[in-house]
Order: sequence, then structure tokens, then C-alpha cells
Amino acid sequence: MRTGHGFDVHRLVDGRDLILGGVSIPYHLGLLGHSDADVLLHAISDALLGAASLGDIGLHFPDSDPGFKGVSSLKLLNTVCDKIRAKGFSIVNIDSTIVAQAPKLRPYIPEMEKNISVAAGVPADRINVKATTTEGLGFTGEGLAIAAHAVCLISERY
Ligand code: MG
Repeated sequence: MRTGHGFDVHRLVDGRDLILGGVSIPYHLGLLGHSDADVLLHAISDALLGAASLGDIGLHFPDSDPGFKGVSSLKLLNTVCDKIRAKGFSIVNIDSTIVAQAPKLRPYIPEMEKNISVAAGVPADRINVKATTTEGLGFTGEGLAIAAHAVCLISERY
């Protein structure tokens, strides 16, 4: 068994869609980034790459590559999971936390978990997404950005 950890932050700005866990969420601001800026999927992808000692998503999908501009992070997660399996691992479970003051995310979490399950090829009961505020404190609390944390467990296939 091997464990992995991921963390990511994206700034909230005007004129962008808010995509979290592959779900388009109604909000007056969206996350800024080269891809769709899905901060949750970036944290999860980094956790998986970390567990397999495969670096990070910046290494695999560089910002400098125009091929990744606006790309769905579900596609990036799918590619990451293919790389994990190609190295002889299977994914045991993924847990994650979105840190956002607003909007309320609870209604969208089941769809996020389903999207992650499909993209990662992992049963839905092995995927968990949580959401929290920081009680108005710090850059997430002030609504300047959304952050996400993720951990995962992977196992070597025999
Ligand atoms: Mg990111």
C-alpha cells in the first residue's frame, strides 16, 4: 500500500465558469487557470501521482503546452489514472476536501463523486468529497480563492 497527498488553490475571478469535480456550478465567479481550473480534480490528480512517485500534474500537463488550454480536468484525471495503472498500481480509495466560503457545495457533491468515479475507473463507494468553509478567515474565507486537499491509497497489483 502507498499513500499520496495533493493540495491546490485557484483564484476566483469574473468571467470564468466555476467547475468543481467536473460539475459546472452556478456562481458569479469562476476559477482562473490554464485548464478548466478544477481545483478539486487537480488536488486528487496530485495525490494519485504522489502515491505512485510520478511527480505532479505540472510535470505531466505543463501550463506552457497550448494543448491543455481549457481542457477538462476529468480528462487529465483519466490520463493520470491510466499512468498509475500502467505502473502496476490499483486505486484503493480517494478522500478530498474543498475549502470554499461560497457557494454552498453540498447539493453538487454526489455528481462530483460520480464524475470522479467514472474518470478514475474506481467504484463510487471508494470516492469521497467533502466541503468546508474557513469561517470567513484567510484567502478562502474572504472569497478570493478556492482550495482543495486530497489523499489517496493505492496498492501494488500482484
Ligand atoms: Mg491547479
